[in-house]
Amino acid sequence: MLDFLGGLERTQMCGELRAEHDGQDVVLMGWVNRRRDHGNLIFLDVRDRTGVTQVVLDKEVSNEAHAKAEAARSEYVVAVKGKVRRRGAGLENPNMATGAIEVVARELLLLNEAKTPPFSPAEDAIANEEVRLKYRYLDLRRTEMQHNFALRSKVAMAIRNYLVEQGFLEIETPFMTRSTPEGARDYLVPSRVHAGSFYALPQSPQIFKQILMISGFDKYFQIARCFRDEDLRADRQPEFTQIDLEMTFPKQETIFRVVEGFLTAAFKAAGITLTTPFVQMTYDDAIRNYGIDKPDMRLPAMVSLTDELTAELRESLKIEPVLPVLGFVIPGVGELSGTARKALMSEIRAAFGDSGLDALDVARLKTNASFAPLAETIEKKLTEAPTLAPNGRREDGAPLLVVITPKLGTPAKWNHDPQWIYKRVGALRLQLGQKFADKHGRFTKTGTEADYKFAWVTDFPMYEWDEETKTWIAAHHPFTSPHEDDIQTGKLVNDKGAVRALAYDIVLNGTELGSGSIRIHRQDVQAEIFRSLGMTDEEAKERFGFFLDALEYGTPPHGGIALGLDRIVMILAGASSLREVIAFPKTAKAIDLMVDAPTPVSEQQMKELHLRITSRS
Ligand code: ASP
Repeated sequence: MLDFLGGLERTQMCGELRAEHDGQDVVLMGWVNRRRDHGNLIFLDVRDRTGVTQVVLDKEVSNEAHAKAEAARSEYVVAVKGKVRRRGAGLENPNMATGAIEVVARELLLLNEAKTPPFSPAEDAIANEEVRLKYRYLDLRRTEMQHNFALRSKVAMAIRNYLVEQGFLEIETPFMTRSTPEGARDYLVPSRVHAGSFYALPQSPQIFKQILMISGFDKYFQIARCFRDEDLRADRQPEFTQIDLEMTFPKQETIFRVVEGFLTAAFKAAGITLTTPFVQMTYDDAIRNYGIDKPDMRLPAMVSLTDELTAELRESLKIEPVLPVLGFVIPGVGELSGTARKALMSEIRAAFGDSGLDALDVARLKTNASFAPLAETIEKKLTEAPTLAPNGRREDGAPLLVVITPKLGTPAKWNHDPQWIYKRVGALRLQLGQKFADKHGRFTKTGTEADYKFAWVTDFPMYEWDEETKTWIAAHHPFTSPHEDDIQTGKLVNDKGAVRALAYDIVLNGTELGSGSIRIHRQDVQAEIFRSLGMTDEEAKERFGFFLDALEYGTPPHGGIALGLDRIVMILAGASSLREVIAFPKTAKAIDLMVDAPTPVSEQQMKELHLRITSRS
């Protein structure tokens, strides 16, 4: 009963027909999105990736076509030969791009049937994600998913075109390689030929791209797949895609301008015009003003009230004499009732636990004659920064003032991190920003550039103190160059905590989009860095010997960056998870539910790979 396609060719896609096509003969092909049976008239909505067209099967026009439409069901694959007809007055559907017309079918071919699907691709939202992932082929038929992947393709193409225009060469690097240094766990591939040896899948093309600079390619990029065996969170995938690039002889700013260029091209492909250059701030300033190295600048920054809290005031308010006092506003919250204010205060205090921080109730200070002037000063200082919402409108409700003080006797356990107050208050700023998101509306998309607050964060510390092991560890991968000044002044050896890295992150709305650095190009410095990370020369040689060798053959200064493509597309699509923009993603447990991977393999395969399983999950 199924028809053959024969020599039939489609003339239009299902999303293309408009009023001006009235009277035209067309051939459409696609899936039955919905079917409505009105006896002598049957309506089939036929869908392809561009949209849906209403097809009318009128028994009086063709008995045979009408009979086939009676047999058709959701997701059957059909071809329609017919004539475009403007819909009568009042019958137009303004919610459908093709809503001005319908196609009156003369002939209907049933090209394939479909089992009743577990969910209809015609639906907007499907609650059960596991079912979506298991039947991913059906899920991907949904309009939203088709849109996400069209967007992804456009964005990737825009980036590629931009970089090629700027003289970058796209060069592929291997998937089967040896361990790379991004600090996650490797995925390993056992070698059949070399019993007991393994390839590692690359966590990034880092070493290869640096070697390409040594090889004189000058500007490299790759839209590269990376593999990291990490515990997964909502916004992580075991394999993901980076826009990876590297250049010879760059200043940091050279790289920033390239990235701004390709992001502008990418956002333009999604209909958004960006203004460049992006804001740039040092890591220290990011911590001081936002309490975090990935500032969300959609909300006002923190403000120092350290000087306003004089020694006397601190004494009477039981505040530490030297530690900073910080405040910030959450705009548009409106006046809180006394009860609501008190509840919020206890919520904040409870969240601080025994950290030694406390919230200062500014409204209450106002009612006390000896503290009223302080309250006014605080209020003035916190609110004098403009509180314009990103979309240009002034917030209606009064801003919420939050002031955080270190209590007298604040635990000394924090002393190893002088920035801890900034970080704790910064975290509170973000929490309250979320809590009052409905009030300030700054996280609500307006569809314009104002939705996207980019920033470059520079001058990261080179090392981080690890409380557990009481050692300094690299804050980035170990090829990141320290500031030249900090090498020259000997800080590398004497004062690790003060060494700054030539490392930078690009941040969007409080999310890190990517990070990079100027690299070490001298073998002696590289060897010194490995040593400073507690690696013996033998260990360094064992892991990175080939690279240390390469550095000795005329390595030019070089630097680069990598940005997460999945995340960029996710943000542009307004999607809530990376899984919405990766065609065949894995679950939070790293499982591909459609192909059912990973799976055990046969005894024979294990034998060939010289492997034996000692326990199974
Ligand atoms: N390879 C680094 C990463 O994957 C990026 C870079 O330094 O270029 O994060």
